[in-house]
Amino acid sequence: MANPLYDTLFGAHAGRDAPFLHLSDGSTVTYAGFLAQAAQIAHVLTGLGVQPGDRVAVQVHKSPQALALCAACAQAGLVFLPLNTAYTTDELTYFIENSGAALVVCDAAKTGSLAPVAEGLGARVETLNADGTGSLTDKAAQQSEQFDTVARDADDLAAFLYTSGTTGRSKGAMLTQANLLSNAQTLVKEWQFTADDVLLHALPIFHTHGLFVATNVTLVAGGSMIFMPGFDLEQILAQMPRATTMMGVPTFYTRLLDDPRFTREAAAHMRLFISGSAPLLAETHVQFEERTGQRILERYGMTETNMNTSNPYDGERRAGTVGFPLPGVELKITDPDTGATLPQGEVGVIEVRGPNVFKGYWQMPEKTAAELRDDGFFITGDLGQIDADGYVSIVGRGKDLIISGGYNIYPKEVELVLDEQPGVLESAVIGVPHPDFGETVVGVLVPQKGQSPDTDAIMETIKGPLARFKHPRRLVVIDSLPRNTMGKVQKNVLRDAYKDMFA
Ligand code: ATP
Ligand code: MG
Repeated sequence: MANPLYDTLFGAHAGRDAPFLHLSDGSTVTYAGFLAQAAQIAHVLTGLGVQPGDRVAVQVHKSPQALALCAACAQAGLVFLPLNTAYTTDELTYFIENSGAALVVCDAAKTGSLAPVAEGLGARVETLNADGTGSLTDKAAQQSEQFDTVARDADDLAAFLYTSGTTGRSKGAMLTQANLLSNAQTLVKEWQFTADDVLLHALPIFHTHGLFVATNVTLVAGGSMIFMPGFDLEQILAQMPRATTMMGVPTFYTRLLDDPRFTREAAAHMRLFISGSAPLLAETHVQFEERTGQRILERYGMTETNMNTSNPYDGERRAGTVGFPLPGVELKITDPDTGATLPQGEVGVIEVRGPNVFKGYWQMPEKTAAELRDDGFFITGDLGQIDADGYVSIVGRGKDLIISGGYNIYPKEVELVLDEQPGVLESAVIGVPHPDFGETVVGVLVPQKGQSPDTDAIMETIKGPLARFKHPRRLVVIDSLPRNTMGKVQKNVLRDAYKDMFA
């Protein structure tokens, strides 16, 4: 094939009048219409002199045109580089400079501050607004709806995705055509997607979850998406009757459960709810099943690898686990110091190998060498264990591990106990500097609506289930945990807030 990614995801649908996107205004974008616009945009990109292999940095609101820009990059052999819409101009400067982008596509409202920066770095600037207008689509409208797909190899770069920056500065993960394709094809089989599926899509498309997992799975299966600008509870409830599947971060599911209109009947025709990007509380899992009679399917992945594990479509979806390694993905739990594989059941670092694993971090050879072994295993930085039945569970991030007085403390173990306490909605357990112990444990509690947890009583109760060295030295109660746009708890923000507590 001339361009495996484009040909499989997009080219395969040439001339199809079937719906691809259902939009909020009631209109539909067909596959044929979508491909025509992608081809027009591809002409604009090449007309600007952007060359195969060049990076196209894109910070735009979610729209069908933004997705067509992604397809256009694939067709023209360019590297698509989506950026979080929340990033400020200062943050964008880092990404544009770091990636060496040849072109920046942004909202017209941003050009005032961004254009001088981009141009100073040698990048051209085009605009694309939330409503699909802008210089990019204006120019595209004049172009032919046919574009000769640029030849690319499976091993060529298709996308650059910066990681979410939960544990430090975002890293540019280089993803090849084969990385993306192999994962999409595997997920279609595992989750049994077909051309009849209608996916409720409320995720952002600057992140692997909404961009690659949701969109590429739909494209491989030839189904359609109810394509929403963002998560809007009213819209989700209104549109759900047309959908067959939904992918979300855990907060989507907790928000749905908070609304009494989300009933067993409202979900009855849905065949699959999938969750990922952050841990789904076992309690959410249970509540969801009580409410709908369905079990959420939780899976585990990351920017660098796409998806690695999934609970089974048929078979037990086990709460608190992320299921089994996907076909073709090898997963092992290793000792962080020696790299040796640990016996089943022990907690260690999760390492993965497979066609989904990225090529490395852009211009970070040392970081790449430190995390990507010569034999192809990627050291994910997540801690996990495998139970006797082979289910993988995530214990937390290596960087969140607390070492107090020489003892390892896994925050999740303590969080699970705290979450059970009266009046507690959720918790985050962090390590903060301590003069005697190096680090000590602090528990941050979020109360249930209208409750105020009794921290003294909780300190007393946890003595039963938790060894003394794991006890939080202090419990603090706050309104909500700091989360980034993907619903991930930002423990670095908490650690920073409480770093002087025992100083
Ligand atoms: P950075 O690497 O920049 O610190 P990040 O790791 O949050 O940011 P992403 O690639 O968006 O960036 O997120 C991947 C991480 O999300 C995984 O390594 C894991 O820690 C977490 N994750 C994803 N799915 C799950 C899940 N089902 N349960 C628990 N954690 C999950
Ligand atoms: Mg990461």
